[in-house]
This record gives sequence, structure tokens and C-alpha cells, in this order.
Amino acid sequence: MLFSEVCEIFEKVRGTSSKNLKVSFLAKLLKSLNEEELSGLIKYMLGCDVGVGWATIRDAVLEVAKEGEKFGKVVVEKGDLGEAAYELLKGGKKVTPFFFEELQVMDVINALNDMGRIKGQGSQVLKKRKLIGLLLRADPLEAKYIVKFLTNELRIGATSGLLEEAIALAYGYRSERIREAVLMVADLSKVAVLAKERRIDEAKPSLFSPIGFMLAEPAPSAEEAMKKFGKEVLVEYKYDGIRAQVHVGRDGVRIFSRRLEDVTDSFPELVEDLRKLGFSAIFDGEILAYRDGRPVHFTKLQQRLHRKRIDEKVIKEVPVHYFIFDILMYEGREMMSTPLRDRKKLLESLKLGGRIHLAPIFTAKDPSRVEELFNESRKLGYEGLMLKDPDSIYTPGRRGAKWMKLKRELDTIDAVVVAVEYGHGKRAGLLSDYTFAVWDGDELKVIGKAYSGLTDEEIEEMTEYFKKKVIEWRGSMAIVEPEIVVEVAFDSVQKSDRHDSGYALRFPRIKAIRWDKAPRDADTLDKVKMIYERSQEA
Ligand code: AMP
Repeated sequence: MLFSEVCEIFEKVRGTSSKNLKVSFLAKLLKSLNEEELSGLIKYMLGCDVGVGWATIRDAVLEVAKEGEKFGKVVVEKGDLGEAAYELLKGGKKVTPFFFEELQVMDVINALNDMGRIKGQGSQVLKKRKLIGLLLRADPLEAKYIVKFLTNELRIGATSGLLEEAIALAYGYRSERIREAVLMVADLSKVAVLAKERRIDEAKPSLFSPIGFMLAEPAPSAEEAMKKFGKEVLVEYKYDGIRAQVHVGRDGVRIFSRRLEDVTDSFPELVEDLRKLGFSAIFDGEILAYRDGRPVHFTKLQQRLHRKRIDEKVIKEVPVHYFIFDILMYEGREMMSTPLRDRKKLLESLKLGGRIHLAPIFTAKDPSRVEELFNESRKLGYEGLMLKDPDSIYTPGRRGAKWMKLKRELDTIDAVVVAVEYGHGKRAGLLSDYTFAVWDGDELKVIGKAYSGLTDEEIEEMTEYFKKKVIEWRGSMAIVEPEIVVEVAFDSVQKSDRHDSGYALRFPRIKAIRWDKAPRDADTLDKVKMIYERSQEA
């Protein structure tokens, strides 16, 4: 397929705010691609970093566009590198290539893949050369999308959710079926190709490809939870750390976060201990900052995810351990469809060691036993309890009543930052006031606004981050791309017509940035309503 045809469809997708229309344009696009194009294009549509820096893009445009030197100015005006490339190339090119062959989709994908493979010293120069070659052959619209691929900012509203629907529509599956497959293999390109070939049933878990995490529902009380289960349950401590899926194979170890990102390099000491296990497995568990047999405070741990280099100093400062509470694959055997009680038996039979532990398992038949375990958990420094149905299978990505979480004090809310504003006084010049929202179906609804409770250093860092994510300025407030999840503490929930959610948090305080959570993992308006209603009953 010609790349220009793809770009035209991108423009159409971008040009409509109707979700259905977006899906149908995307489905039409997917249908006209072959397997190779499909897999490559989805990869770049979702954002795949090939390591081409801002300066390299600028230099390439400078060499190709007649008035390339205006690049910086146009970027500021347009607020987007891709749009800037479009504007400048519209004004013509410095050189006319002596042969002209229209760009095929695969020409672009191959060139991007090549750029991604160039590493080491002098790599930016080589990448620039490749990019110039591509831009010389591109018309302005194509150049725009090539640059957008490089900056990982397509901005046409083709989220992974919409792409899943488009795949379903294009190849005649239900969207749920596609979603299930994505949870198993966590790679939309792969799922798209399987769907095209009508082999979606082959979307099976495999080592080193992350699987969606099973999630829990909040339980209002021990009593209600036990009533709901109506039988003996398995009980674990609820750890306040980082959820982690660990893949151990003969030839290595990989650790994936809840966002299914590879965070292996953040935990070298865990990798060292996991290597020694001597069998292959996929585990689900929690990484905890842990010292002298007790959990240490959690913000310290989140910082690790964010650090570029983990050296001896960090390892000493924030010692981590891994607590395993589930097993999804063992020696090549898929375990997710085995009932939890049997998965636990298998876990108990394994030999672990070093910083790798089996999370202690208890059982409870009645609420008073749950209360007793709850108090024990709090004494040990944990957050509360997880109650799990012993007969349940592991359902990736789903929040359900098979797992229930029990916490005592008012919950915190995980919300998505949707707008930021400059602060005052000491925080003038810094984007320190955040407006945040929770999910109401597919929409984000605002529930409050708070000064960031982050450190000065973090606020500075986040200011730089948010500046790159501005969608639109409204006075001193910037609407930003909804990407950052913050954990917000508050005193109570009130009804309010100040925000479009109809609710507002009273005295909200931002406790931490949840780098481990993707926007989709943020809480729902239903949870806010539940907290409100519970407070009315009390
Ligand atoms: P929350 O972040 O409060 O919504 O609680 C859900 C999270 O609790 C999960 O995503 C896990 O990261 C974490 N968690 C802690 N302990 C456990 C456990 N024993 N089993 C399952 N999840 C746990």
C-alpha cells in the first residue's frame, strides 16, 4: 500500500471526533494492509521509540526544506514537530531527487526499523542520513507522519482501545475477543496479524511476552466480602509495592510492570536471584522496598522505576524483595486455567531463595478470622488484605469479585492528570497545580484540583514533562494529554457541580506519581460514588 494513502486516512481519523467514524476509518485502513504492513504500522501507530532526537529531526528538516532554518520558530507556533515539518516542506525542497518513486508503507517501516537498529557512537549522524533520504522522497503530509512516528506522537486519537475495535470490525470478531487476545499476548501487532489470518485462538501466553494482570475489586468490609464469597477463602497480605510479572527462562529473566513495560533493568539484584531458580516460570507478585524483615515506605520504590541507572548506592538505599502470589506458567505449562488452590500448591512446592519469597497464604472461613488477619497485616506494615476465591482461574486484565481487596482507612484515588496550571509564589513558573479525573466508561471526568504534594525537584521535572504534553492552552491552564496517574489522598467526597463528574474530593493532596500505572488503571467514578455513599451511611 502507498504511504500517502495511509496518511490520508490518518487525516480523516484525526478530523473526526466521532469514535465510530474513527473506528471505521481505521478498520478500512487495516483491511487494505498485508500482514507485514499491518504489524509494522500498528507498532509505530502505538509509539515505538527508534531513538531519533529532536536535534536530529531538526537538522534533517533543515537540510531538506527550503526554509528549514525556521524550524524552531514553526515548532513553537505549531507545538508539534510533525506539523512543523509539514509547514516547512510545503514551501518546497532544497533539492529535487533525480528519481522519484512513491513511498510504500514498507519503505517507511523498514527505514524506521533500520533507524532503531543503529546504536552507539555516531548513531545520530547515521540516523539523520536515513531520515533525510526518507524526507527527500516524502510529500509534506507524509513527512508530517514520518516525524510524528519518530516523536511517538501521532495525535489522531487512535488509542489502543480504538485500534482493538478497528481490528475486530476489520476481521469480523467481537471486540471482547480481540481484547482477551491482547491480554494474553499484550502485543496488538501480533493480535492484528492473528485476527487477519483468523487464528486468534493461537493468542496464547508465552515466555517473555507480558500478560495482562488480574485485578481486584474493593471490598467494603470483611463481613460483606465473606458474604459475597460464601465459602472459605484464601487470604494474603496486601502489599503496597510495585506489581510485577516475572518471566524466568533458561536464557534469562524479564520483569514487567503493571503497564506491561519491561522494568528488568530497574531491579538487577532481583534478576540475579531469579536466575538461580533453575526452572522456567511466569510469576505474578509484588516488588517491595524491604529492610530488616519489614516493608519500607513506598515512594522510595517508585523512584526506582524512574531512575536511569541503578548502581550499588541505590541498591543499598532502596533494598527490594519480590513476593510471589501467583504462577501463570510453569516449565512450559500454562497454569492460568488451573484453580487458584492448585496454583498455590504448586507455588508452595517450589524452592525459592535470596530476595525471592512466596507470599504467605492463609485461609479464612468467617469475618472474625479476616479481622484478625487484617490486624496482623497492619502490624507488620502491610496495607490490608487480599481475599481470593480458591476455585478461581487467572483472568488477565479483569477486575472482578474473585479477588477482593480490603483496606481500612479511606482509600486513596488514582486519578489521571488532565490539565496543569502555573503555581504562585515559590512555585511561579512551575506547572504545579494539577486537575485530575477518573473514568466514567470511556470518558475522563474531573473530580478535583490540587497543588502538587511532590518535592520541588519532582515538580520541576514534571513541569518539563507536561510542557511537552500540552494539547491546548486555556489562559494559564494547559490541557495535557491524559498520561500521568497520581495517587490522591483526601478527607472526604462531596457532591459538587463544580466538576463534570458531579463530585469533588475535599482537601485533596497528591501523594505520589504512579509511574507504574497506565491511565487506564486509574480509578472509576463508581469508586468515588461508593466512597461517597459509604460516608453517607456512616
Ligand atoms: P490498589 O492499587 O489499591 O487498587 O490495589 C490493587 C493492587 O494491590 C494490585 O494491583 C497489586 O499491585 C496490589 N497487591 C498487593 N498485594 C497483593 C496480593 N497479595 N495479591 C494481588 N494483588 C496485590
